[in-house]
Amino acid sequence: MASHIVGYPRIGPKRELKFALESFWDGKSSAQGLQRWLWNSGVRHHSHARGCSARYGWNGGEISFEVYFAMARGNASVPAMEMTKWFDTNYHYIVPELGPDVKFSYASHKAVDEFKEAKADAPSACKLNVFIESEIYVLCQLGIHTVPVLLGPVSYLLLSKSAKGVEKSFSLLSLIHKILLIYKEVVTELKAAGATWIQFDEPTLVMDLDAHQLQALVMPTQSLESSLAGLNVLIETYFADVPAEAYKTITSLKGVAGYGFDLVRGTQTLDLIKGGFPSGKYLFAGVVDGRNIWANDLSSSLSVLQTLEGIVGKDKIVVSTSCSLLHTAVDLVNETKLDEEIKSWLAFAAQKVVEVNALAKALSGHKDVAFFSASAAAQASRKSSPRVTNEAVQKAAAALKGSDHRRATNVSARLEAQQKKLNLPILPTTTIGSFPQTLELRRVRREYKAKKISEEEYVKAIKEEINKVVKLQEDLDIDVLVHGEPERNDMVEYFGEQLSGFAFTLNGWVQSYGSRCVKPPIIYGDVSRPKPMTVFWSSVAQSFTKRPMKGMLTGPVTILNWSFVRNDQPRFETCYQIALAIKNEVEDLEKAGITVIQIDEAALREGLPLRKSEQTFYLNWAVHSFRITNTGVQDTTQIHTHMCYSNVNDIINSIIDLDSDVITIENSRSDEKLLSVFREGVKYGAGIGPGVYDIHSPRIPSTEEIADRINKMLAVLETNILWVNPDCGLKTRKYSEVKPAVSNMVAAAKLLRSQL
Ligand code: GLN
Ligand code: ZN
Repeated sequence: MASHIVGYPRIGPKRELKFALESFWDGKSSAQGLQRWLWNSGVRHHSHARGCSARYGWNGGEISFEVYFAMARGNASVPAMEMTKWFDTNYHYIVPELGPDVKFSYASHKAVDEFKEAKADAPSACKLNVFIESEIYVLCQLGIHTVPVLLGPVSYLLLSKSAKGVEKSFSLLSLIHKILLIYKEVVTELKAAGATWIQFDEPTLVMDLDAHQLQALVMPTQSLESSLAGLNVLIETYFADVPAEAYKTITSLKGVAGYGFDLVRGTQTLDLIKGGFPSGKYLFAGVVDGRNIWANDLSSSLSVLQTLEGIVGKDKIVVSTSCSLLHTAVDLVNETKLDEEIKSWLAFAAQKVVEVNALAKALSGHKDVAFFSASAAAQASRKSSPRVTNEAVQKAAAALKGSDHRRATNVSARLEAQQKKLNLPILPTTTIGSFPQTLELRRVRREYKAKKISEEEYVKAIKEEINKVVKLQEDLDIDVLVHGEPERNDMVEYFGEQLSGFAFTLNGWVQSYGSRCVKPPIIYGDVSRPKPMTVFWSSVAQSFTKRPMKGMLTGPVTILNWSFVRNDQPRFETCYQIALAIKNEVEDLEKAGITVIQIDEAALREGLPLRKSEQTFYLNWAVHSFRITNTGVQDTTQIHTHMCYSNVNDIINSIIDLDSDVITIENSRSDEKLLSVFREGVKYGAGIGPGVYDIHSPRIPSTEEIADRINKMLAVLETNILWVNPDCGLKTRKYSEVKPAVSNMVAAAKLLRSQL
């Protein structure tokens, strides 16, 4: 075996999975229809046992789609299971809930069924012929002997959560013996079906595991020893360097045939391998980046591979991807509108498979010279292309690095100056930005983009919408208004489209969860702002009301974290460039008379590196980037920021260091978590609006319920800094939900004001 990929996207080149799932959920296609579709298209999921299935209607036997989707999406009687981000990606997984009494059972034979299905002769209708051509062993092939992929038992347990009530007293790893009994059944069945390799993904190995957790890694190969005999076991890790201790532990395991490492993000792992690799074992060298869309620099990868080959031996090196290709876009072939030069710099999953194969061939002495020289030409064009470099921007960003950026006056003095101007009541009310995006609104934007309606008609329609939203907020008696964001379909794309250095794809989708996909913009060059982006609409909105109207921007860190970022300079440099562009926008808004400006940093936390040792560096430049956007404004201009997550306890000092005048922050789904920081004594002196109700649910909270939540906040935060607002934007809700919910929110604020 000379080439391998860790995994492949399931969504299909044009989001076929999304449409197949939605048709099934809408009752338009049968379970058999969906299953057949999944087989034919090679769509596979990580298969593993899941906790708490009984709650979702499972009563033994093979788990059905009905139970499976009830767990993932909830139904009329049970809410969905918790979903969380898969490491630092934008992909989400359902978190198993495990308690000491959990009974695991082998309820999904997917791994084995899929292996058999793949091994069976390829039907002529097989759609994913890219695999057939490229002689690569992957899970999702038809007519091919594949490597089944299982999430490893240690990662499975560490990525689960303790069931309610036992959180403190119970260690998830104590279930290792129980869960290994299930792995044993799966492995035995796979072996009987003819599998020769099994890939165990153990990505938690790149985290800071303690000695006890590391010790657990020894158990699987020990206790499955007899079942695994005769099988080649691959332990696959990804997303970061493997710490030296973990490296030592796994490379001394018995019964393992090979190890897979991410050599794109894990450059120090390369040094560990150079320092020693167990003889006779395979090294799966992840040199093709699964997290990005850039074409591989083949000649540089080849020289890394040659060095490694010198260490592990000629027949023991396998060319691989850094992680599953799930996290990149599917196929560049469908990008018919992309500029040809930029396109030559890119490789999506289908192209990465070809790269892996070309590297493997080159390593074995069969170099495709034409392919390698085309790759070298693309690398050279990317380095020298004038569309990548903007010297003025480079200089300005470089000048930022050494210096600090802070507003001249401290936050309490600023709040005082702002209050003189804004004259807000205590417990001021506001919303996060977007109002419902109706079908009509989407139609207007779509038709304008397709040039079916004129600019004049478009502007008129959006103005009317803003006016409607402003009037509604005045009727509801909200204190600080928003324009509702009707002109935006996405908070990052909207800015990317107006900044230089960004490119957009037609089909560059990446699965976020279930049928949900995102289409990140591509940052390929130095970022600058040719002209104001939001000033027109914010001024229009302000002209409709005497109340303060918030200017609404997306922050630099969020734009960065929700894009495919260039890999030819450090991420912080790109972030500083975006910060400068947003700074210009902030200052133009201020000049246009906008006195409250919100800079959303919905994704700041998401970019936090997995390893503790790298977190401080990230937080420093991320927080610095945010401050750069607004250090230049007057004391009387009020800067807000917004965050979509309440798990900020461990980064609270960085949140304070953003030095924004007001922060609105998701809270209502977990008030205990956020408020506990303040209960434990963290001093917060700036304005803060922990969300008072969950906008993800259609449920309408009552006035009493909201008042109750605010009271809980008042118990730990000073009255004069507290704001009243929902958890996040109202974009996905209906007006029939927004009107009563916000009306109750304002009523609750008024009720408490009268009591204070
Ligand atoms: N201002 C944005 C909105 O209200 C914020 C969205 C977000 O935080 N994800 O839609
Ligand atoms: Zn939000």
